[in-house]
Amino acid sequence: MIYKNFIGNQWVSALGGQVLPVLDPSDGQLFAEIARSGEADIDSATHAARKAFEGKWGAMAPAARSRLLWRLSAALLDHQEELARLESRDTGKPMKQAMADAAAIARYFEFYAGAVDKLHGTTIPYPSDYTVLTVREPHGVTGHIVPWNYPLQIFGRSVGAALAAGNACVVKPAEDACISLLRVAEIAAEVGLPAGALNIVTGLGIEAGAALAAHPGIDHVSFTGSPGTGRQVAQAAAGHFAPVTLELGGKSPQIVFSDADIEAGLPVWLNAIIQNAGQTCSAGSRLLVQRAIYADVVGRLSELFRATRTGAASDDPDCGPLINAKQLERVRTLLGTADGSGITVAAQGALDPSAPKTGFYQVPTLLSDVPPDHSLAQDEIFGPVLAVIPFDTEEQALHIANSTAYGLVAGVWTQDGARQMRFARKIRSGQVYINNYGAGGGVELPFGGTGQSGYGREKGFEALYGFTTLKTIAIKH
Ligand code: NAD
Repeated sequence: MIYKNFIGNQWVSALGGQVLPVLDPSDGQLFAEIARSGEADIDSATHAARKAFEGKWGAMAPAARSRLLWRLSAALLDHQEELARLESRDTGKPMKQAMADAAAIARYFEFYAGAVDKLHGTTIPYPSDYTVLTVREPHGVTGHIVPWNYPLQIFGRSVGAALAAGNACVVKPAEDACISLLRVAEIAAEVGLPAGALNIVTGLGIEAGAALAAHPGIDHVSFTGSPGTGRQVAQAAAGHFAPVTLELGGKSPQIVFSDADIEAGLPVWLNAIIQNAGQTCSAGSRLLVQRAIYADVVGRLSELFRATRTGAASDDPDCGPLINAKQLERVRTLLGTADGSGITVAAQGALDPSAPKTGFYQVPTLLSDVPPDHSLAQDEIFGPVLAVIPFDTEEQALHIANSTAYGLVAGVWTQDGARQMRFARKIRSGQVYINNYGAGGGVELPFGGTGQSGYGREKGFEALYGFTTLKTIAIKH
């Protein structure tokens, strides 16, 4: 099967005629090909988007735009299983995770459909012979560079908000996982989205991705991925002063005090790192545990890690394969740095004997006694590897929690209300969960980071401010 680009509601081959192979992470075998696009394809999609923005799509009344997005949301739910199957095959994610992701994209469009006609401006007190008001206007054509870990969800959160705000979109999915998004674009056309409002161009990051970030016809760029690529995208967009939203991952801590409800925490701490095989920007990848309960928590978590089953996505295991051989190699190299450092491999999960030998499998791994300054406690691993770190005092816990270059999500586990709030305020993080952990939480919750985790906010109503620009109008009577 060869998947083409979707531009102006038409399937079109890459203008250079080239394709890229798509491998199934569960067995490492080729199962499809996608268009390998370049500058000319991005240019064509950007023109189609501009035409839509200046034409039918841009002229549509908010209520009509809202109804269209409701219809899309409902259609996505009707296709939930089909989308989940495509996503599961392409990314290696277990079906139950893929089903949740397919439900989440529908929920994003539902949420933003309801917000379209509630995006009000304000009036501003000024001398009485004036009326001053603000209006929120779409940027125009927005570019979206999507990673491979949650194509459906990340597309939903950024494209849902961008379309709701009235922009026309050009999307460059990750070369490793774009097939579900091509189907979403087709469904959008089927429910009546005008030609050019949503365009998908596949290809390599250094080719199609770089061309999108640098294209002068792109008025705003939303990027999710690695810090290094995020910097390149921001620099390219700066060439034509396009604003950028960057969501660059994390090394998110969960801090467990000795008064915490361990029973409630254990399944959450496990899931926060094995969900999507740890390939989650907001994975709870560091667990800071107070000394008095440290041995108990490590012991009980070890049992849970050992009980996990890793295998092919189609078998719906606890943990699927990683996305590709490069990612597996990266995780293994980082794990290798534990040797001779005093870090203990406290427990590992089991690999299903029937998992194909050619798949990209890393079993869930629990590391204890990880020094806070070790790379395993500092760097984003993007695999099912949890670093457990002991601490004694609240002050020390805060210092360790804030000691990485990232600041995306944090969890605090304690019954002490004052300590909950002290931590919530002092921790450097875009989201803080108290006695729970959301890995980004529901679609309603604004999400984004500080420091190396990036800037700007997506999700929730807040995202609509990022996908619009504010105009002030002063009328002298
Ligand atoms: P990446 O940042 O290179 O890729 C993310 C997206 O950016 C993809 O669509 C890719 O095609 C595109 N891209 C790559 N180079 C580009 C360029 N020069 N200009 C414009 N777009 C470009 O990530 P990766 O190489 O796939 O993964 C490497 C690491 O990044 C992972 O190990 C993980 O730590 C991190 N990562 C984080 C997230 C996240 O959700 N924050 C997602 C994916 C990867």
